Amino acid sequence: MIYIGCHLSVTDGYAAMGKTMCDFGGNTFAWFTRNPRGGKTRPVEQADVEGLRAILSEKDFGPLVAHGSYTMNLCSGKEETRANGLDMLRQDLERMELLPGNLYNFHPGAHTGQGTEKGIEEIAEALNEVLRADMQTTVLLETMAGKGSEVGGTFEELREILDRVKLTDRCGVCFDTCHTWDAGYDLVGDLDGVLKQFDDVIGLSRLKAVHFNDSKNDRGSHKDRHEKLGQGRIGMEALRRIALHPALSNLPFILETPNDDAGYMEEIRLVKTWMEEGRTA
Ligand code: FE
Ligand code: FE
Ligand code: ZN
Repeated sequence: MIYIGCHLSVTDGYAAMGKTMCDFGGNTFAWFTRNPRGGKTRPVEQADVEGLRAILSEKDFGPLVAHGSYTMNLCSGKEETRANGLDMLRQDLERMELLPGNLYNFHPGAHTGQGTEKGIEEIAEALNEVLRADMQTTVLLETMAGKGSEVGGTFEELREILDRVKLTDRCGVCFDTCHTWDAGYDLVGDLDGVLKQFDDVIGLSRLKAVHFNDSKNDRGSHKDRHEKLGQGRIGMEALRRIALHPALSNLPFILETPNDDAGYMEEIRLVKTWMEEGRTA
């Protein structure tokens, strides 16, 4: 299956996002579960959720990839920030149950000087606190650029978190191409090698989604600045190889490139064309 879409705003509700993505020509999407900076959520209306669910089944959408707030830091050195993060995670996952069978991705966190090991422990602890065996959502840790004190800039760190989570089957990984590149993984020169490394360290069966972005910066820059497809340092050829890699086929690809609506439509069309041609070749 080919699942491609982009980040959308939840401002006009859930069903509106589904309609927008149909207009954009895609069949999956991501949205911030709350204002990325603020942290508030909008109230949910049952009819709105049902409206989206109808679109998802009618149009054969792939799994959606909700995104937790940037302000959610489960391993902050500040106890209050950690507690707030835990509340956000709990509420977000409760709400995800209204849309069963989808994915919820978040940035593992920043240890703010506590050290990576402590960060890893606290992230796993938070997940152990909120995950329930009967949840219909798979929770994804995003691969990070390793900016500042970010946890999750290496596959090993993500693996260490997953190893500590009791309901580890409810968890997986979202592969952000910009972040992974900025973290130092050579997606341009050795894509097979990077994915082999992912498989050896984490296991490709844990990979559930791709954030498909070019990067403004060089490999290993630890910066995290997304770029439009083909206009950054990863480049069109390497991105095409990623889109066509058999290890990633069937995963939802979410664009988080700096685009307006027309730009997103164009990128969705481009990636869809690559995938369709690649699979009939
Ligand atoms: Fe992200
Ligand atoms: Fe991302
Ligand atoms: Zn990013």
